[in-house]
Amino acid sequence: MQERVTLIRMDENQHTEDAGRKSWTWVLPDGHASNDWSHYRRRLATVVTRQGLESITLGTIAGEPLLMLRAGTAEPGAPRLLLASGFHGEEPAGPWGVLEFLDATDGDLLSRVQLTILPLVNATGFRAGTRFNAFGENPNRGYLGLPGESPSHEGLLLLAHGELLLDAACDGLLTCHEDVLLSHAYIYSSEHTAEPSGFSHSLLAANAAHFPLHPDGIVDGCRVTGGIVFNHYDGSFESWLMQRGAARIACVETPGQHPIAQRIAAQRAMIEAFLACAPAKQD
Ligand SMILES: [Zn+2]
Repeated sequence: MQERVTLIRMDENQHTEDAGRKSWTWVLPDGHASNDWSHYRRRLATVVTRQGLESITLGTIAGEPLLMLRAGTAEPGAPRLLLASGFHGEEPAGPWGVLEFLDATDGDLLSRVQLTILPLVNATGFRAGTRFNAFGENPNRGYLGLPGESPSHEGLLLLAHGELLLDAACDGLLTCHEDVLLSHAYIYSSEHTAEPSGFSHSLLAANAAHFPLHPDGIVDGCRVTGGIVFNHYDGSFESWLMQRGAARIACVETPGQHPIAQRIAAQRAMIEAFLACAPAKQD
């Protein structure tokens, strides 16, 4: 396969309004378009019913619901994990990967954890295939009130549920992203340690099983070493929850220059790795 190595990407700082509104879509293995929102909603509803998941609408943005699901055990001592996807509408492998994970899980992984899921945060962006939402806002910025940033409509809704989300993420947060211009995979992770632990490395390994890793250097304006951007802080959802006390967070990036089916499989594998490395239950 011919591979295009790109070290320059549309990073958050360089995202122009035009780039945020550019539409990216792919054809899924089942023939549907990657931005087919009604197909996604139908499949999600089927999985929610079959797996007996609790589904809560946190609010409605431009007529579209922002859904939150509850899965796993209700045992209070079990680790509490938050999985969130679809912040950026041109990164569809995340939401489809969440769906594939929920569709295929046999319950073993889920039985050990209390899992809260935001399957698709930016529904208007997903439907349009655009990074930004229908209001031209970046739903993964503005959480920490940094200069020049303000929360999106989705951000305001998530901030309004801050205590609930922090409780859900207290033992870990995984967010599923993509990097449409890249051929290499990488992850962001933050831990309360000087070096990445097994948590970061297991997510990285699940990504590396599907794609070559990003070479050491700069990605998205950040230093990447061994495929990991470690303990980087910005105005994102991840940094907000880490600062509020989440035990550890990771934001995984699949490369958009590879086939969509491979990217969805990698996202599912990283979700499974995230659950598998959850801390042991506390008695
Ligand atoms: Zn993203």
